[in-house]
Amino acid sequence: MAQIPASQQFASDNYAGICPEVWEGMRKANEGSVPAYGDDPWTNGAAEAFRTLFGTACEVFFVFNGTAANSLALAALCQSYNSVVCSAYAHVETDECGAPEFFSNGSKLLVARNDQAKLRPDDIRALATCRSDIHYPKPKAVTITQPTETGEVYTLDEIREIAATCRALGLRLHMDGARFANACAALGCSPAEMTWQAGVDVLCFGGTKNGMGVGEAILFFDPALAEGFDYRCKQAGQLASKMRFISAPWIGLLETGAWLRNGAHGNGCAKALARRVAALPGVSLMFPVEANAVFLTAPVSVLDGLRARGWRFYTFIGGGARFMFAWDADPARVEQLAGDIEALAQ
Ligand SMILES: *Cc1c(COP(=O)(O)O)cnc(C)c1O
Repeated sequence: MAQIPASQQFASDNYAGICPEVWEGMRKANEGSVPAYGDDPWTNGAAEAFRTLFGTACEVFFVFNGTAANSLALAALCQSYNSVVCSAYAHVETDECGAPEFFSNGSKLLVARNDQAKLRPDDIRALATCRSDIHYPKPKAVTITQPTETGEVYTLDEIREIAATCRALGLRLHMDGARFANACAALGCSPAEMTWQAGVDVLCFGGTKNGMGVGEAILFFDPALAEGFDYRCKQAGQLASKMRFISAPWIGLLETGAWLRNGAHGNGCAKALARRVAALPGVSLMFPVEANAVFLTAPVSVLDGLRARGWRFYTFIGGGARFMFAWDADPARVEQLAGDIEALAQ
């Protein structure tokens, strides 16, 4: 038997297990036999649950992970000679091993030339209008991450302004919503308001970080953009033969409201940690804490001290310590972390 770690860690929201509502959804789907490859009542039910939640007749697809969801969604928007505008922090740029370029047969990412996780209309205009000659990959899409990789949340006005900029320039708007639920909980708005009503064309809705074991959903608000997308998923190795086990969990997550509760819980834990440590000597928040992430700069002695006390965390953004809070974050353990940071910073 492998040894079970005694103490919860906040290095990644993917350290969390499967939430009870998802587990129950899986259990229900495990009864009896149904057709394979998504031609089953669970998969239809999950797509319907998304249409109900978003209040619109969107096209819905289910894939295994976020890299595939983002890459295939962007590939659906682009020809191989097109380009996609993104932030320098975008997961598609920094953490997908070139998959967006690979699955689009070469569509190039045009990365904003500044040090901001949030993309601004000016960044989009600059990259989309600086060239119009045959030698430049023709801009066709924009991708924003909501919340950003640094835990910041675009306001509805910011999304609307980006969407208006896209429309004026003839670009499609994609949203990487790996932590979409955290953003909805943070803004207190409906999924519709943050997406199609604000001008988003395609959304990747993260399931894994929201409490599933595996799985992301892709929503096309303009059904014309989804043409052939089922083939794209199959060709990319993303069509699950026992599809019900990646679709049915969504029913449990969406219909019980667990998706939003889970997001709100993670956000609350991040806020709690931020409140406790923001004013400590030598410690500061690198980014406003608006979702479920806390990024801290702290003296090397504090970071080393935390590691010595058994805490795990990443420092891949700007050398600061990143802490992420999922649906299962234990408030007492968050307090322990805060107490350790406090003790080390004195
Ligand atoms: C986690 C994450 C993804 C998905 O990553 P996979 O490991 O491919 O599932 C996508 N975008 C962002 C911003 C993420 O944090």
